Amino acid sequence: MIITLDKMLNNVIIIGSGPAGHTAAIYLARANLQPIMLEGDSSGEVVSGGLLTTTKIVENYPGFPQGVDGYELTENFKEQSKRFGTEIISETATKITQNDDTTFVVHTAENTYHTRAVIISTGSTPNRLYIPGYDDFWHKGISTCAVCDGGLPCYRNVPLAVVGGGDSACEEALHLSHTASKVYLIHRRYQLRASKIMIDRVLRNPKIIPIWNSEVVEVLGGDQVEKLLLKSTTEETLSLSELEVRGLFVAIGHTPNSQFVKDFVETDKSGFIVTNERKETSVKGIWAAGDVQDPHYRQAITAAGSGCVAALEVERYLH
Ligand code: NAP
Repeated sequence: MIITLDKMLNNVIIIGSGPAGHTAAIYLARANLQPIMLEGDSSGEVVSGGLLTTTKIVENYPGFPQGVDGYELTENFKEQSKRFGTEIISETATKITQNDDTTFVVHTAENTYHTRAVIISTGSTPNRLYIPGYDDFWHKGISTCAVCDGGLPCYRNVPLAVVGGGDSACEEALHLSHTASKVYLIHRRYQLRASKIMIDRVLRNPKIIPIWNSEVVEVLGGDQVEKLLLKSTTEETLSLSELEVRGLFVAIGHTPNSQFVKDFVETDKSGFIVTNERKETSVKGIWAAGDVQDPHYRQAITAAGSGCVAALEVERYLH
């Protein structure tokens, strides 16, 4: 289908449709700037609605005392964006190029969109384990977000495991230790790569039991995770050990969805887009918001906040 929007110079294109993108869209649409949102499609790394849609119950987004389904929350964002006039297009941005000093072209497989400003809010993808059982128990005991899922009844007062040795794994383990009966921290080496303060907290916590030099090779269970098969990373022996847990939280890093602009805007060594406090990137006229530029917090509410900042700055820039 040919879309006429690509023939004209748009004010602003928002790439990505999670909390950051929709918050930006709501602000910009209410400012009569007729934002266009490229929400992504099934072909690209940017899934429509983003990571939040994969969270069953969001209990830490203000305004929902009983919690809210992540998918439903995202649908509400979308409805609100559309209500004020955001044009939402199910295409995935593949490239941004500079037209002249003040205009850009956002490319998708189907179209090219000319615009005066861009907000990149394409999120990040948690790294996954490629082991048997991972797909079968996804959301049936396997999660990549303790803050989102750790408080669910199925994870309370039961033994859980976290995989990883960085700050995220430590944070996940510490968070889960408040509600789980115990938390095994499974790391493939003998040394955590997390910051010293996090290591101290983890090692001082009596409910966190490190399992060093080990990796999970299979997840087993019935309706929910029941045990993990572990393999030593140091011993030559092929023997596996079993660990009984009711949940596995995977914290082995996130990959920001910035691949399509990595040669256009500055990114750090992990691929996060570098922004300042106004969410400006290294290219004037291009902003970034949400997880794609946030190596630290990665929460729906912080993403929404940064989308708001970017939108207010874009509004000021365009006026
Ligand atoms: P990270 O620092 O890259 O750590 C990833 C961990 O996962 C590493 O320990 C790595 O093991 C392990 N790992 C990777 N692939 C694995 C696999 N296939 N199987 C088993 N283990 C695997 O990632 P992160 O913890 O998400 O942190 C990312 C960045 O955000 C860091 O800069 C971190 O400091 C920052 N961060 C900061 C905070 C905070 O300040 N409070 C909180 C969260 C994140 P190896 O160690 O063997 O490589």
